[in-house]
Amino acid sequence: MYSKKLLLKVSKLAESFLNLCHRKPCIAVILVGDNLASKIYVKNKIKIAKESFIKSIELIFPENLSELDLLNEIKKLNADQNVDGILVQLPLPKHIKENKVIEAICPSKDVDGFHPYNFGNLSLGNQTVVPCTPLGSLYLIKNEVSNLNGKNAVIIGRSNIVGKPMHALLLKENCTVTLAHSKTKKLHDITKKADILIAAIGKAEFIKKNHIKPNSLIIDIGINRITKKGKSIIVGDVMFSDAYKIASKITPVPGGVGPMTIACLMYNTVKLSFLRQKFEFEEKLF
Ligand code: NDP
Repeated sequence: MYSKKLLLKVSKLAESFLNLCHRKPCIAVILVGDNLASKIYVKNKIKIAKESFIKSIELIFPENLSELDLLNEIKKLNADQNVDGILVQLPLPKHIKENKVIEAICPSKDVDGFHPYNFGNLSLGNQTVVPCTPLGSLYLIKNEVSNLNGKNAVIIGRSNIVGKPMHALLLKENCTVTLAHSKTKKLHDITKKADILIAAIGKAEFIKKNHIKPNSLIIDIGINRITKKGKSIIVGDVMFSDAYKIASKITPVPGGVGPMTIACLMYNTVKLSFLRQKFEFEEKLF
């Protein structure tokens, strides 16, 4: 599995950081409130960090934590020389402004790559911290398609954390990129031309056979919980049973992009730990 391969690389990097710095790379994960899915994601991230030779600090706060208190916690982590990466699990409770929180994280510790400074660099095609889900998706794409020059890539979904960074990454790879969204007209006509189709919509099994170009590569980012035949299950944004017959390859949900996202989070943590100490870091992800 690709995520296992990447995590092995991360563990080796983390070990060499330990040899150089006499401590492990360290990620601080902040969770505010009782969102069940967020709790599961955080638990998973902490587990994988441990398995990858990365120290993790878990900070759990009640739903009624004030925005100011959260900003103060981030300030403390920014100042802590032994913390390399800070992750605030989203979504946050409604009374806390996500943008304000993201902007409070020091860009050199922004493991998610959501800070406007890092996002700006990504948009300019500069070296930076890349958001984990788009980075993991690109890793999967590059393992399937050796030359992306001129490929028609269509991304459905324009969120700041998935669709927009994915657009910037594929543009840098010389794809011809279309970024579709809820106001896009004649979506089928656009997706039917996609050599690479990336679904980040958040709508269960929305992409059906009439959206898909034969022999295309499909990256299904969606994670949707639905009830089928009385059972609660997780499905993607693509109707898998339609797509696998038409596409050359499709990532499964669960098990495709999800594990890559966590592996890339670990990669970003190790990368930031090296960069913050001004140790040489050779960017050789692909
Ligand atoms: P958002 O809700 O922020 O964005 C959804 C996007 O889909 C929006 O841009 C929206 O358009 C677009 N959209 C909605 N309906 C349609 C439609 N009918 N036709 C075309 N476009 C449409 O979601 P996220 O980007 O945060 O996440 C997307 C999915 O990916 C979710 O299922 C999420 O759970 C999953 N996810 C998975 C991760 C992983 O690790 N595998 C990580 C992050 C997310 P508009 O902007 O016009 O509203």
